[in-house]
Amino acid sequence: MKATDQQWLHHHSCHDYDLLTARWKHLAQKTGLEIVVLANQSGYEIFALRGVGKVQGGGLYLSAGVHGDEPATVWALLQWAEANQERLAGESIIILPCVNPWGLVNNLRWDEQGRDLNRMFQNESLPFFLSWRKLLGKQQFLLTLNLHEDYDAQGIYVYELAPPDVNVSDQVFTRIESIIPRESREEVEGRPVRAGMVHRSKDLRRVVEEELEGGYPEAIYLYLNHTRLALTFETPSEFAFHERVQAQVGFIEGVMTI
Ligand SMILES: [Zn+2]
Repeated sequence: MKATDQQWLHHHSCHDYDLLTARWKHLAQKTGLEIVVLANQSGYEIFALRGVGKVQGGGLYLSAGVHGDEPATVWALLQWAEANQERLAGESIIILPCVNPWGLVNNLRWDEQGRDLNRMFQNESLPFFLSWRKLLGKQQFLLTLNLHEDYDAQGIYVYELAPPDVNVSDQVFTRIESIIPRESREEVEGRPVRAGMVHRSKDLRRVVEEELEGGYPEAIYLYLNHTRLALTFETPSEFAFHERVQAQVGFIEGVMTI
């Protein structure tokens, strides 16, 4: 059955972290993925799933919910995983189902202390970031994917941190733009968007220092330390919830099959 906004509203579940956790734990049991608890955030366990499979050229890294007011990301990641259990059973993969559960429950971008976790991935002292570093070790990933939503967006778009000759997302967008069209704005945060793509790879350390006051987003940290292809996918927060979830699922699915 296709999920609609009516169903989501009826169940009132898109900020229910206990339900999200229960479904991931069930999936871990069925797939053999290991649950790794990373930290306790005001009573909510932040956890990852890890699979050690045989994939040539590095594994995959998928992450959602670092901003708690972007709920389509976490439900889409779960929906995609539940539909791909056979594949996950043999995959070399790290999944972070919800980096900021307190934010999800409270429908807020920030954590319980008002911090934007997505400007803190250089942090070497807080329990979550310590555990996260340990989890990743020196692993290199074929691809990392961070899922986000944007209140200002008028369509889907992606930040593609990749070498100049790589463009993965455009092919994927042709499959999912019937669900939500590509971003129509010409600029996102001062950067040009072309057909929904914000493509860059150079001067990232300078960008972080000058524009983000030294606070590293997850994707930039991953690109500089763990991968040659870091994608950040964004859906427009003001669109219908079920469409955002379906666009997110379609993006994950598309990236995985290309
Ligand atoms: Zn976000």
